[in-house]
Amino acid sequence: MQILFLGTAAYEGFPNPFCEGDNCSAVRGGRCESFRLTSAVLLNNDLLIDFGPNIMAGTQKSNVSLFNVATLLVTHSHSDHLYLPNFGFRKIPYNRSYERLPVMTVLSNSTVLGRIAEATYYDPEKTVLLEASPFEKMKVNGYTVTPIPAVHKAAEGETPLIYIIERDGTSLFYATDTGPLDDECMERISKTLTKPVDMIALDATMGLLESNIFPYHHSFYQLIDTVRAMMEFNILNDGSRIYAHHFSHAANPPHEELEKLYASHGISVTFDGLRVEL
Ligand SMILES: [Zn+2]
Ligand SMILES: [Zn+2]
Repeated sequence: MQILFLGTAAYEGFPNPFCEGDNCSAVRGGRCESFRLTSAVLLNNDLLIDFGPNIMAGTQKSNVSLFNVATLLVTHSHSDHLYLPNFGFRKIPYNRSYERLPVMTVLSNSTVLGRIAEATYYDPEKTVLLEASPFEKMKVNGYTVTPIPAVHKAAEGETPLIYIIERDGTSLFYATDTGPLDDECMERISKTLTKPVDMIALDATMGLLESNIFPYHHSFYQLIDTVRAMMEFNILNDGSRIYAHHFSHAANPPHEELEKLYASHGISVTFDGLRVEL
């Protein structure tokens, strides 16, 4: 499985264009790995996870095309993960390869699918909407996808999802945006797996925030606890590649400092343009 991170920031980007706080100021003029667009990941050039407002910039930054994307997984309806005008890029008159463009199956919760279906950018000829339900394994375009309920708050009545994606014996657990999962959820995840996942990209939004004021994301400290718990539940093992992902400028330092911080726990840090092969 080839994994490409097109973006690795939270909603406001990093640096936030309107922020001159310590972290945003430290990043400007520094290493390019610290410059983060809103989060999205491309697998094998044909499966995309999340469809936020920076998808155009992310593909230009990594010099890739999304033409072959036949599957789109959307985690939830927050605007950094779902930006409806993106669907217009696929359509006539904006697309000169429309006839050859593969149909795209969109897998998500009913709130997200409802918004897509109502959007002026929705193209039923080239789009299939497929509802994902927690813990119901689905086979789509050669992938096996297990949706997991996230600990996150989006629209009223919406169930934000994170996903375990398997193909050819390898697996990625894409786990942003979410706060720490409870033991019952860990137990259920463990039961759906035949072996620990090969890689996890885990929410690290709140960084070095020490007080647990926001339950719907992970701080660095909570991420360490979640990784430990996932080891106990056999969701991860020593062979799993563990990446901290989805960074807010509010409490995360520049990339090189984040790398040092997480490396002492055997954890890697995503950056825009990062490619991982499983
Ligand atoms: Zn987000
Ligand atoms: Zn969110």
